[in-house]
Amino acid sequence: MNNDTNVLFVSASAADETVLETLLAKNGTGDDVTLSTASEAQHFFDAVYSEMQFQVIVVDDVQEWSDWRSVVEACKKHRPNALLVLLVSSDAAAQQCSSLLADGLAAVYPRNSSGLLALARLVSTLAAQSRSFSLRLADSRSAAHAGDETEEERERLVYAVSHDLQDPLQLARRYAAILNEDFERELGDSGSKVLNHLEFNLNRTQEMLDELLEYSRLQSARPERTPVDLNVLLDEVIALYQLTLDEIGGTISKQHDLPTLIVDRRQFHRVFQNLIGNAIKFRSERPLHITVRAQRIRNEWRIGLKDNGIGIAEEDTKRIFGMFERAAPGEDYPGTGMGLAICKRIITNHGGKIWVRSSLGSGSVFIFSIPQADDAGTESHG
Ligand code: ADP
Repeated sequence: MNNDTNVLFVSASAADETVLETLLAKNGTGDDVTLSTASEAQHFFDAVYSEMQFQVIVVDDVQEWSDWRSVVEACKKHRPNALLVLLVSSDAAAQQCSSLLADGLAAVYPRNSSGLLALARLVSTLAAQSRSFSLRLADSRSAAHAGDETEEERERLVYAVSHDLQDPLQLARRYAAILNEDFERELGDSGSKVLNHLEFNLNRTQEMLDELLEYSRLQSARPERTPVDLNVLLDEVIALYQLTLDEIGGTISKQHDLPTLIVDRRQFHRVFQNLIGNAIKFRSERPLHITVRAQRIRNEWRIGLKDNGIGIAEEDTKRIFGMFERAAPGEDYPGTGMGLAICKRIITNHGGKIWVRSSLGSGSVFIFSIPQADDAGTESHG
């Protein structure tokens, strides 16, 4: 007997289908859930008259070939045992349509990220229940992990969306470039200004999306650990910024020799690059000086980067490690607010912690800790 949970998605939106598919496929219950899509009348009637059992039918309120109410009526008539879910255009519409719940609809969700997440959760719960003979067991397990699952689903959605937005965004950037190159004269002065503004914002969106994708990839990527001499790594990153440092008269010095740690080399390169890049970007009027320190405390190493820059207000010192969180005014300092979130994720993936000690006007010390079981070729500096 087949225990699969079959979902019929009556929708014309390929994007919603992709997002839902990604959420379901990677939900741990993916193997038990089959998603069929009906984007036109023929597909829909083929599906409802087929032998296939559908446990859930999701109806989009925007249909190219019919009114959603007729689709719902047809489902009620031909598939009375299926759970009927309506996807509507907004939270407000979902509120309005919830009066229909008594009328054969099991749920009404908005067609946005939280609605699709809720829908994926509903389907996963059904799949889990049909797998398990003990409903009580399934319930208690899902309640215990509900928080984790929501977080994981969010991660998957972030990945799916940032991945799927790359193509249309690149297309938009290419069209803007064509306008700039081939139609400059026709556009005139004010047209060119608008186009420049558009290109600036498209580039910024691309930057944010790239960082979001990188952040999201780090979630599932296990660090590829090898012994990494942090002295060498630091020198490589300093070399990247040497021209800028020369230009602004900035210096970087080591207070201690740094240890060799068993970490992911590429990811740690990124951490040093973000932290030093930030120290340069958020420098004050004073000539920039960065000091790098290392300290072994019991079974962990702590690495600190101290700068004499603009500093961070006490109340912002935790928030800035979140996604897209920034403390300094955006117009003065370019950036996306993803750098420290990426650092935090890398350090957390290595079992460590990252924090900052700072106050406005007095510079900052960014410190990260990395647990290391034994000396692993490291020396102690204290
Ligand atoms: P971004 O640099 O793109 O703004 P980050 O996530 O790297 O994003 O940093 C978040 C915020 O933390 C910055 O916008 C800034 O307000 C603050 N910040 C980070 N590093 C420093 C620093 N060395 N000195 C002062 N402020 C900093």
